[in-house]
Amino acid sequence: MRVGNKSSNKRCQNTPKKATVLKIVLTALFGFTPLWSNAQITVEAYNPASTLIVPDHIVSAAKYPFIDVHSHQYLRTPQDFQKLKMAMDSLQMKFMINLNGGWGSQLKEAVESIYKNGMSDRLAVFANIDFQGFGFVQWTEYSVNQLKEDVANGAKGLKIFKELGIAYTDIHGNRIPINDPRLDPIWAACGELGIPVLIHSGAPKSFWDPMDEKNERWLELYKYPDRRYANSAIPSWEQLMQEQHDVFAKHPKTIFINAHFGWHSNDLAELSAILKKYPNVYIEFGAVIAELGRQPRMAKQFFESHQDRILFGKDSWVPSEYVTYFRVLETADEYFPYHKKYHAFWRMYGMGLSDEVLKKVYYKNALKIIPGIDSSWFEK
Ligand SMILES: [Zn+2]
Repeated sequence: MRVGNKSSNKRCQNTPKKATVLKIVLTALFGFTPLWSNAQITVEAYNPASTLIVPDHIVSAAKYPFIDVHSHQYLRTPQDFQKLKMAMDSLQMKFMINLNGGWGSQLKEAVESIYKNGMSDRLAVFANIDFQGFGFVQWTEYSVNQLKEDVANGAKGLKIFKELGIAYTDIHGNRIPINDPRLDPIWAACGELGIPVLIHSGAPKSFWDPMDEKNERWLELYKYPDRRYANSAIPSWEQLMQEQHDVFAKHPKTIFINAHFGWHSNDLAELSAILKKYPNVYIEFGAVIAELGRQPRMAKQFFESHQDRILFGKDSWVPSEYVTYFRVLETADEYFPYHKKYHAFWRMYGMGLSDEVLKKVYYKNALKIIPGIDSSWFEK
């Protein structure tokens, strides 16, 4: 009797321990327990130190001077410029595109302040479009003229934010599709002006998928619930991609830089087909390096095949995060960490790209399509 009690007590003590271990393991693998009341750690906190010992090469500066075509800067004081310059120097970033140029007087002032602060050999802005008033008959003509003026004032390209197709509405409150014909004169004008359009449409497809234990971006959706697009008035991911591709097809004389690998970095075969279909399209890998770092062989093959079409982009300005980009591109390192768990709960592997491919990705391709960057600053 006593023995029986003992063993059943023992079982009572053991059961929660096993459950806790199980929860930790499940949390780590599938990321679904932060709501469990007695979980010891959350998926965000779970960060086991790797016991793997392999050669590692921390690349704190790029092998070649590079051009980052996807940045967002809010520079006001001379100190802001000075700080930026120092960070760029430490990374070997020779040139940066600030996509937040705005339009009209704001753009003019942004360009003037670049010159005033002695940064015209380091920094340029892309213009944006003011979608207010879209639907008035004069809107298109007005906006094309504004863009022409912005380019005359120093804009080196046009940036289209993801709100087009998702959030921008016309004067009647209707969504503006990316392929709305009233935008055609703008895309055509970019071709005529010889400036590229950096376009960000949509988001990772997982933002439309059910938010359950199978969703790879579950943690991101948990942290940022407003990024979830399912069950809302927003069109499907497929539709947004199609609308964007319609524009690429309709304006073959305009160069498009599709931001974030066009949200196809997890399906490079499909992205390859897209690039073959639209020869006027280039891509940049801002915020998706983790997708490449988990498929180094496939990604390397892709970079070799499309080495003339890929640009360096990073997006969020956190200088310390560039190390991961350089390491994925340049080294053949294995199983090294990424910096944002909500983008990737997996580790990275380097592609070990050749010098020839690296030079194209780091600067040659950008020099080819973005006007007004002095190529003599870069090695041939
Ligand atoms: Zn961005």
